[in-house]
Amino acid sequence: MLNLTRRRSRQVKIGNVFIGGDAPIMVQSMTNTDTEDIAATVKQVAELSRAGSEAVRITVNTLAAARAVPEIRKQLDAMGMTVPLIGDFHFNGHKLLTEVPDCARALGKLRINPGNVGQGSKRDDQFGAMIEAAIKFDKPVRIGVNWGSLDPELIARMMDENALLAEPLEADAVMREALIVSALESAAKAEQLGLAGDKICLSCKVSSVQDLIAVYRDLASRCDYPLHLGLTEAGMGSKGIVASTAALSVLLQEGIGDTIRISLTPEPNGDRTKEVIVAQEILQTMGLRAFTPMVAACPGCGRTTSTYFQELADSIQSYLRKQMPIWKTKFPGVEDMHVAVMGCVVNGPGESKLANIGISLPGSGERPVAPVYIDGEKAVTLKGDKIAEEFQMLVDEYVAKTYAPGAERKSVSRKKEIPIKVLA
Ligand code: SF4
Repeated sequence: MLNLTRRRSRQVKIGNVFIGGDAPIMVQSMTNTDTEDIAATVKQVAELSRAGSEAVRITVNTLAAARAVPEIRKQLDAMGMTVPLIGDFHFNGHKLLTEVPDCARALGKLRINPGNVGQGSKRDDQFGAMIEAAIKFDKPVRIGVNWGSLDPELIARMMDENALLAEPLEADAVMREALIVSALESAAKAEQLGLAGDKICLSCKVSSVQDLIAVYRDLASRCDYPLHLGLTEAGMGSKGIVASTAALSVLLQEGIGDTIRISLTPEPNGDRTKEVIVAQEILQTMGLRAFTPMVAACPGCGRTTSTYFQELADSIQSYLRKQMPIWKTKFPGVEDMHVAVMGCVVNGPGESKLANIGISLPGSGERPVAPVYIDGEKAVTLKGDKIAEEFQMLVDEYVAKTYAPGAERKSVSRKKEIPIKVLA
């Protein structure tokens, strides 16, 4: 069995959740609504939270947006949504936090981009004003550096210093080092100003997979702040998912990363919750956390001439996800359940036996029957036009019987959560 060792980090509290230390790797997301539009923002934060986002970042870019934040918090509280809000500040955060103290009060965390806090002599004062607000309202801060908005004065200074070296580094290497230096120097500055070390998280986001891995490996070895992982500007559709998964999997496997966000560009009018589902699926398929029962399904081949089994696999996965808000309180542990929906007898029975509950559908030319396996044993054979409905009922019965508090549970799944050690 795999046994991952997670990098030791301090633990930071955000509202009612924790990042770092021995806390589970947290899933977060960001809205794409105009924060001034309170109704739209409340709706999207609620959707992201229901999908499983454990903190939600919102843009705070204008006075009206800053004034909207306490009302957004109030409406979420009234809905029973305790998900912490993270305020994303650039350029004018010092003004907004000073002029609208209720904004800082309503937020769970402030995100400060050290590349966007001002230039020259104003930079320190404006950064200081934001840290002062964090201290005054007892809020943690993410120092979030981004490749696209790296402090120009810092990069110019480091490029000059590099040029004087006997063996100068490549420009890319200087840029990577500048990202790390920006994060670490800003964190040190925040601590000098009085912000406690356990109120600081760091991120250094870039859009290239190999750069992200190199930067985070280095950053992880140089500090013990919790790290927020994410590939910035990951892109749309499968490209964004694949690039994010490739980068984050390598780092997570090395024990690096305390919270993740998947920066997918949604399709026009697409569902923003996709980024939450992808983040959860990365963690769950790596065995690091469990959120929703997973469906194993075969890809289909020439032995399946209809889309029946694809539709069944899809409808069962959607059904399981939809049930989770109710199931997770009623049936603790159900998120670990594995379901198999297989296209034919070649691999169907074998995969189904390894799941908690699985069905092997009839392939082309096979008898029109679908054996169902429960806890590794053949339990029943379904026939006729209602196989999908009957299988869903069997799943419901299995969940109620197996995961009710106090129920005796047989362990059949080979797909267990990986025990994670935190370095002492
Ligand atoms: S289980 Fe059957 S239908 Fe599915 S891919 Fe394998 S051979 Fe094809």
